[in-house]
Amino acid sequence: MGRKLDLSGLTDNEAEHVLKVVQRDMKLRKKEEDRLSEMKQELAEEGSRCSILSKQHRFNEHCCIRCCSPFTFLVNPKRPCLDCQYNVCKTCRTYSKREKAWLCTVCQKTRLVYYGLNPVYLTG
Ligand SMILES: [Zn+2]
Ligand SMILES: [Zn+2]
Repeated sequence: MGRKLDLSGLTDNEAEHVLKVVQRDMKLRKKEEDRLSEMKQELAEEGSRCSILSKQHRFNEHCCIRCCSPFTFLVNPKRPCLDCQYNVCKTCRTYSKREKAWLCTVCQKTRLVYYGLNPVYLTG
């Protein structure tokens, strides 16, 4: 049967090609947006989780706010995070030489997602 009338004057093949290019571009952009919003979602969940935990009586005095592992003198000493001020264990923090302070994994992610700061600079 006859070809469908296309307002842009493109043939079906051309229109399809253009559409594919646009879709691929949109998909890539969408993927990046999805990744970011996924990370933001995770951060929001982590935020509400740790605000509940921090309300528990002295929870953060004895346990890491991020992974809940107990602090032990010398073996796994607690250190406060520069950004969130919660105590975190040795596996949940990185030392920022530049800031001369500890930063927890979640705050590193927050900096990356919201401020575009690469955590790599911490060790520089
Ligand atoms: Zn931890
Ligand atoms: Zn933190």
